[in-house]
Amino acid sequence: MGEVWTLAEFRHGELSSVSYELLNRGKNLSQKLDTALASVILGYDIKKEDIDELIARGADKVYVVDDKNLENFLVESYANVLIALLDEYKPDIFIAAATTTGRTLMPYVAVRKKTGLTADCTVLDIEEGTGNLLQTRPAIGGNILATIKTPNTRPQMATVRPHSMKPAIPDKNRNGEVIYKKYDESLFKTKSKYLRFIKDESQQVTVQDAKVIVAGGKGVGKEENFAIIDELAELLGGAVGASRDVVDRGWKTYPHQIGLSGKTVSPALYIAAGISGAVQHIAGMQTSENIIAINKDPDAQIFHLANLGIVGDLNEVLPLLIERIKEYKAKEASANV
Ligand SMILES: Cc1cc2nc3c(=O)[nH]c(=O)nc-3n(C[C@H](O)[C@H](O)[C@H](O)COP(=O)(O)OP(=O)(O)OC[C@H]3O[C@@H](n4cnc5c(N)ncnc54)[C@H](O)[C@@H]3O)c2cc1C
Repeated sequence: MGEVWTLAEFRHGELSSVSYELLNRGKNLSQKLDTALASVILGYDIKKEDIDELIARGADKVYVVDDKNLENFLVESYANVLIALLDEYKPDIFIAAATTTGRTLMPYVAVRKKTGLTADCTVLDIEEGTGNLLQTRPAIGGNILATIKTPNTRPQMATVRPHSMKPAIPDKNRNGEVIYKKYDESLFKTKSKYLRFIKDESQQVTVQDAKVIVAGGKGVGKEENFAIIDELAELLGGAVGASRDVVDRGWKTYPHQIGLSGKTVSPALYIAAGISGAVQHIAGMQTSENIIAINKDPDAQIFHLANLGIVGDLNEVLPLLIERIKEYKAKEASANV
């Protein structure tokens, strides 16, 4: 049985925490298959602490390709290196996050390896008897969950949504093997040229990075009323989320949308105001640590998921909440003088 591989994302000198979420997923698979779990890390100037962290978070092996040519993400060079590694070590399963990098790189590699790839999986498991990877993802507009297999070719490849699983917890006592690989200059050849990196500055805190999200639904009523959601999010140092109905109405832009066809988030606190809790919305926020729901309908679906539910009009509840937070902050500030 070949190994289970996860792609560790390293960019601009930093290892993304999504790499640890993948290790959590991979651990379940490698344990069922009784095989090694490995992470592959490509980049330039990769720090030893990052490699150690991957081992602490569950990797039995780490394949490292550290080369100046991999300083910036260029799909052809990255794919060439991955294909060389896959050809040499022949893992059974290779998973990556459904981030911009994963979504760009994995199809490129799958096509060249002539193997299957299931994008945006929400569940990964092993089929008893065959050891095949069961790749489950929403299909037909989110109305069904389809389980897809790649029985005839290897590796079996899948991308999984970021924030759909908690990161693996580190154990500094773990040991692992580190395999450094060097490749000839010709392998990095690409027709693309890196020009520069432009960061999306449209939101101060993006919903995927935020520890607190205040999300508004159709119950907010109109675009202008979102000022109250924006104010609460700002007070809490969080980001503003929205349901699809809100985005479809143009009250907020798509980067704010949370759910099946939007972003998947996992903040410490998710405040849902005027959101009914449709299954497609819940798909994007159900892993939030704490959920507070404000809805005037006591039977709203969102209350089944919420840790704290407030039945009431958001136009009355939110101003009160904002007032109390401001009072608390003012008290804290005067205590610190
Ligand atoms: C393929 C597909 C993909 C989808 N993807 C997504 C997705 O990514 N994200 C997403 O969100 N949806 C998605 N949807 C849409 C989803 O099915 C729901 O239609 C949507 O989530 C409903 O948004 P809402 O909760 O804002 O509106 P509604 O369902 O209309 O709920 C509004 C809620 O506000 C409450 N309310 C009204 N006034 C007030 C008030 N003054 N104070 C307090 N509460 C009030 C009401 O009681 C109600 O519960 C998708 C649907 C499909 C078919």
